[in-house]
Amino acid sequence: MNPPQIYAERTLAIVKPDAMDKVVEIEDIILRNGFTILQKRKVHLSPEQASDFYVEHYGKMFFPSLVAYMSSAPITVFVLVKNKAIAAWRELIGPTNPFKARETHPGCLRDTYGKDQTRNAVHGSDSFHSAEREIRFMFHDSIVEPIAVGQATKDY
Ligand code: ADP
Ligand code: MG
Repeated sequence: MNPPQIYAERTLAIVKPDAMDKVVEIEDIILRNGFTILQKRKVHLSPEQASDFYVEHYGKMFFPSLVAYMSSAPITVFVLVKNKAIAAWRELIGPTNPFKARETHPGCLRDTYGKDQTRNAVHGSDSFHSAEREIRFMFHDSIVEPIAVGQATKDY
C-alpha cells in the first residue's frame, strides 16, 4: 500500500532593500519558525520588473514610490515551505504599515525591521494564486516543487 502523499504549501517571501543588512538575521527567524527554505536568490529588479511584480497596485498613489524603492537595490527572494505557509508567513511579517504593526502585532518582522509604509522590510504572498504567480515570476523555469511529506522514495 502506498503511504499518503500530503503536499506542504509554499509561499514567496522577500527581504526588501531596506532590510538587506538584516537578511542573515531574518533567515534565522524564518528557520526558527519552522519554515523550510526551498529556494533562495538575490536579485536586483529593474523598474519594469518591479512594476510587473506589483501590477495589482498600478494606478495607486503609492505605486511610483513602491516601484522606485523595490528597484533601488538588491533584494533576497525565498520560496518557503510549511503547513499553511502562506498564512503563517503573513502572520509572522505582520500588517503592511510598520507603525500599525507595532501596536497590533508587536515583535512581528515589520515591527522589528520596517521603516515606514513603503519600506516595510519584507513581503509575503497573500493567497495561493499570488504565491504561485510570484514564485513563477521570481524563479522562472528553475522552480523546485516541494517534496511530498510521506512520499515513498523506495518500497517499504
Ligand atoms: P502587503 O505587502 O502587506 O501585501 P500591499 O500588497 O497592500 O501590502 O502593498 C504592497 C506594498 O506597497 C507594501 O508592502 C508597501 O511596501 C507598499 N504600500 C502599501 N500601501 C502603501 C501606502 N499606503 N503608502 C506607501 N506604500 C504602501
Ligand atoms: Mg500584497
